[in-house]
Amino acid sequence: MKKIFLSPPHMSGKEEAYISEVFKSNYLAPLGAFVDRFEESICTFTGSRYAVATNTATAALHLALRVLGVEKGDYVLASSFTFIGSVSAVLYQHAIPVFVDSDESWNLSPELLKSAIRKSPKKPKALIVTHLYGQMSRIEEIASICHEEGIFLIEDAAESLGASYRGKESGTFGDMGVFSFNGNKILTTSGGGMLVSNNAAWIERARFFATQAKEDAPYYEHETYGYNYRMSNVLAAIGVAQMEVLGARVGRRREIFARYTAALEKYEEVTFMPEIAGSRGNRWLTTLTLEYTDPYTVMTALSAEKIESRPLWKPMHLQPLFKNALVAANGTSEKLFSKGLCLPSGSSMTDRDVDRVCSVIEKVLL
Ligand SMILES: *Cc1c(COP(=O)(O)O)cnc(C)c1O
Repeated sequence: MKKIFLSPPHMSGKEEAYISEVFKSNYLAPLGAFVDRFEESICTFTGSRYAVATNTATAALHLALRVLGVEKGDYVLASSFTFIGSVSAVLYQHAIPVFVDSDESWNLSPELLKSAIRKSPKKPKALIVTHLYGQMSRIEEIASICHEEGIFLIEDAAESLGASYRGKESGTFGDMGVFSFNGNKILTTSGGGMLVSNNAAWIERARFFATQAKEDAPYYEHETYGYNYRMSNVLAAIGVAQMEVLGARVGRRREIFARYTAALEKYEEVTFMPEIAGSRGNRWLTTLTLEYTDPYTVMTALSAEKIESRPLWKPMHLQPLFKNALVAANGTSEKLFSKGLCLPSGSSMTDRDVDRVCSVIEKVLL
């Protein structure tokens, strides 16, 4: 019996040829032409003007906060219902997170965003909003609140490359956007990230911080400290090949979602993560909640059949790490966490794989 993973890497076939070009040129380091090409391909695809490739999305988020001037004691708003990598950088900067719960979209609630701003002891500097599981948040409303309040907007689009709202790509609504190419994302370079913005000075500054903050001098001169956050040319070669198939990967993930819904939506207790009006998600992971059945019963049954699944993210405001953090909560993400699960959604899954997953779930639900 073949093991079905949650979201394994799915190569296009061109990756090895591009990597071998890197080897022939001997530009394994430092940087190289594929890093430039990868950055350009992200700009072309998203419509964002500038991009810098990084070794992870967590690093890209850290660069964003540093460039935007988030410092010790500053408040940073963030989605509570997300992955820890979304907010780690707030702590790296010794800033203070203020978490915002979700609404029916499962993503950040614009209404609660307003109350979180009122709750902050001083005006927050920035908001990090996640487009969860590749589905768009109510980004236009969120952007207009940030604009009115004078708060920088950073989109954590780590999971949502290829998702769009009214034809505009995720990651391009805010001041800065971040994508991830970690091993289980819709595209992967084995590990990697990208920071995008229409502000040339910010991206130039991010590039400077990402390469140890070397001043323009014939020797190593440092007025401030930086990080070693750049992506290698070898991994960028994988990224260039992966970008060529992004459209197909989104299409397949959406087909997989459609096959799951066709089989499982007849069960009254099953609810899939919605897609807000005007948006097109990438359906990175198919996720659902069960009203009566314990999701762990389903996960155990799947695991017995060598099928990987996992619970929905545990909200940040419920994490021991953030037990004293400020939060504007309404119980939504807490409920989703207790009732939901992620199904295998890799774009290399066959229809028969999806049917195999469905038949195990149906045996539990009957
Ligand atoms: C994966 C992920 C990250 C971190 O990405 P890395 O490239 O692994 O650092 C951040 N935020 C969200 C929402 C993610 O899913």
